[in-house]
Amino acid sequence: MKTVLPLGGVKAVLTRAGAKTALPVVAVAAALAVYPVLGIGTEYHLTVAVLCLLLAVQAVSWNILSGYAGYISLGHSAFLGTGAYMGGIAAERLGINPLLSAPLGGVLAAGVAVALGAVVLRSRGAAFVIVTIALLLTLQVLATNLTRLTHGNQGLAMPLPPWSRETGNLPFYYLFLGLLILTLAFSAWVRTRKLGAGLLAIREDEGKAAAIGIPTTRYKVTAFASGAFFTGVAGGIYGYFLSYISPTTMFAVLASVMVVLAALLGGRGSLYGPVVGAFVVAIGSEAATVYGGGSSSRLLLFGGLLTGVVLFLPQGLLPGAAAWWRARHPRTVEYTDQEGALGRLPPVVASRVERPATGELLRISGVSKNFGGLVAVDGADLVVRRGTITGLIGPNGSGKTTLFNLVTGTLRADAGEITFEGRRIDRMPPWERCHLGLGRTFQTTRLFGGMSVLENVVAPLPDGRWRTAVRGGVTGAEAARARELLDFMGLGRFAEEPAGSLSYGQQKLVELAQILMLDTRLILLDEPAGGINPALVDHLKGIIRQLADQGVGFLLVEHNIPLVLDLCDPVVVFSQGRPIAEGPPGLIRDDPAVLEAYLGERKEPQDKSPEPEKEADQPC
Ligand code: ADP
Ligand code: MG
Repeated sequence: MKTVLPLGGVKAVLTRAGAKTALPVVAVAAALAVYPVLGIGTEYHLTVAVLCLLLAVQAVSWNILSGYAGYISLGHSAFLGTGAYMGGIAAERLGINPLLSAPLGGVLAAGVAVALGAVVLRSRGAAFVIVTIALLLTLQVLATNLTRLTHGNQGLAMPLPPWSRETGNLPFYYLFLGLLILTLAFSAWVRTRKLGAGLLAIREDEGKAAAIGIPTTRYKVTAFASGAFFTGVAGGIYGYFLSYISPTTMFAVLASVMVVLAALLGGRGSLYGPVVGAFVVAIGSEAATVYGGGSSSRLLLFGGLLTGVVLFLPQGLLPGAAAWWRARHPRTVEYTDQEGALGRLPPVVASRVERPATGELLRISGVSKNFGGLVAVDGADLVVRRGTITGLIGPNGSGKTTLFNLVTGTLRADAGEITFEGRRIDRMPPWERCHLGLGRTFQTTRLFGGMSVLENVVAPLPDGRWRTAVRGGVTGAEAARARELLDFMGLGRFAEEPAGSLSYGQQKLVELAQILMLDTRLILLDEPAGGINPALVDHLKGIIRQLADQGVGFLLVEHNIPLVLDLCDPVVVFSQGRPIAEGPPGLIRDDPAVLEAYLGERKEPQDKSPEPEKEADQPC
């Protein structure tokens, strides 16, 4: 489906959320648009409204990385200041009106974000928070010391607006309102793309996101830079509005805290939450200053609000209200069992059929991995051929999951070489391996519990192209395909439910559906039948066979021996970090060395019918 940017996304969000959300949003937008011309407020009220809109723009921008992907930035004002100084310097040096240079300020801010993000967002976790504060303070120091450009602490005077005094701040009001609508439209568009689903996936489980092809660093940097852009534009307009800018007012820690507070209060990660939060925080801050005895009372208010939100409203106002509403009006989704669901497997990857069905797919040579003193994988060699279902069995702790982690890049090998279709992959990040056609499921399913089942299935990325990342996620062809796969799994009616609410077995099937969204040539399944009911095991067998017929290779770790013997050829037996036997299932079943190493005292004859697997979760 072709969508026009960025309104296509907004339309999709509105359609999805239905008239229930659209009506209040349109009503609020209309009220904001007519408010200044109704003559109900004074010039002071209009100024407060401008500050509300400014904070809303910043909170919505902040939300694109920090809300969707969960990487909290405490220095968001750095971009406001960058935009403002860009406008001020361009006006003074080149005589350009700040409104004209505002987009350039946005571009500069985005550039700063890309430069910083490309370094810090490579790693995960808390370092980012610290670095964002450092950025803010560094820019403040720069603005203070580059006196030839900025006049240091004296500040920069901006030109006066060309419109008459009576017009006052009205143009600024509409400029910020327009910018807020644009920022919201962009945020909504991102949210409906695969990019948005990927950002949420990063927030939920970054390691898993990388394993399904999401180039996590690039996604995070993109989100950071786009948030910086809108805030940079806002900075250019804000500087003009203030008519005077200085390092401490433009690069202010407290202003950054207000942005975070607004987003947290309204609902981090939700589309409109940050707007609601921004109005509450900006009006509260103004009221505290006017009625509470000066600006220091704002600090008290912010501290109190922050504590209150963290303790009592962790989701924020809007998501909290939505959760309350859902709890009062529960939707029941019936689960029909799998009968009839075993129908047609959607044409997963048509191109796959043309690929040669024989030959080597994966080669693992002398691969080792130590954890402290423990050798989990010990110089393992293994080959998986195209179109085969290779079984990998072995006692618990023999290193099977670790081997999977090494192949897919979740862990780095200490030694050895891994090639996939002749290309060396052991130094590639997980998502690049995935783009080559390597897919995996996890022993303990790692679905993105807070996302809907549908969002889970559309999140995977088959390649690293931008075009793919901005394809419709929860709407359009991708969503249609995801629904088809879910129907095939018998889970179609759960598409809108949070993935975390499904049963363990259903989650395994959703994880498999995620893999089927990719152009996968080798699928590594880590105990796919563990903990799922016998009917589903049969279903799973059918799926694996159909895919193998299409030329997909499988490496299957499984404790359900009848299933392995029935499905796999060859079977590889793993013990103490390396293969000890390999051969067709009949041979492996009777191999005395295997019986001793793996089956131990289980000497009773294996019957071929699948049995319910009651294996407990193990650490991967
Ligand atoms: P299997 O999947 O065959 O049951 P694993 O690969 O999960 O075996 O584990 C092999 C060994 O490596 C076990 O002794 C396990 O405790 C250890 N191990 C696995 N992952 C880690 C890890 N991330 N950190 C430390 N030890 C680990
Ligand atoms: Mg394991």
